[in-house]
Amino acid sequence: MDNNNNNNNNKSNIFQNIKDKIIDLDKFVFLTGAGISKESGIPTFRGPEGLWRKYDPMTLASISGFYEDPKLVWEFYKYRQELVYNCSPNPGHVSIADFEKIKESSYVLTQNIDGLHEKAGSNNIIELHGNILKVECTVCKFKDKIKEKIEEPLPPICKICKNTLRPSVILFGEPLNQEVWEKAEQISNNCDVMFIVGTSLNVGPVNQLPLYAKRNGAILIEVNPEPTVFTEIMDYYVQGSATEVLPQLLGIV
Ligand code: NAD
Repeated sequence: MDNNNNNNNNKSNIFQNIKDKIIDLDKFVFLTGAGISKESGIPTFRGPEGLWRKYDPMTLASISGFYEDPKLVWEFYKYRQELVYNCSPNPGHVSIADFEKIKESSYVLTQNIDGLHEKAGSNNIIELHGNILKVECTVCKFKDKIKEKIEEPLPPICKICKNTLRPSVILFGEPLNQEVWEKAEQISNNCDVMFIVGTSLNVGPVNQLPLYAKRNGAILIEVNPEPTVFTEIMDYYVQGSATEVLPQLLGIV
């Protein structure tokens, strides 16, 4: 038997094993990161074509950078918004959305700001780091969705109070939204199974969520082409891309 066949057989065994363990369970969580959107054309932060290779995130995606030079930060975000606006969900996002129709107590906790889980049809989504296709006022409570692109000149101005608008994302140096975080903690503490997909788990506090789930007895299943710093604590590690693994794995449950 060649290596490919060996790998395929190993994977089928893991899939069957996972299926037997989770089929009768109800509360599922998908903790996702940049890797799941890579095959939709959105670069990850790390890796050869990661965003960090081209830009200094501490200048371009930090709260201090924003207040120092909002125009520069907005130019960076406008570039990313246009990239994201034109991307579509891939089979990884779609299979998670389809899975929610079968197991209704499923949640997506995503670090991604690209809105692709929503575009794919998932309903129960917690966007831990916000959404790049939304804006909010730095002063009043005004919030809006971006249509096709942000109008020049930059930075855009609030139509209610005329102060500067900002992207609705968590910038470096900012805490997560407390309400959003508490909900994510509560869901992680109560789940039966957590899939950890396309995240290096290098970013805190989100990388604590699998630990909460495990502490409360959940089964952890990681899907990633590369092992992460947390692979050792996983119950299952399925090596591969989200688009290759998820449709097959979630399709059999
Ligand atoms: P990361 O860049 O640190 O890690 C990406 C992970 O995805 C890696 O472990 C990599 O091995 C894995 N990966 C690569 N290709 C994959 C594939 N095809 N299928 C599955 N996994 C794959 O990303 P992170 O852990 O999400 O943390 C980075 C931060 O950057 C997050 O806070 C996020 O908000 C932000 N970010 C978001 C986007 C987005 O919205 N799409 C893109 C870049 C960065």
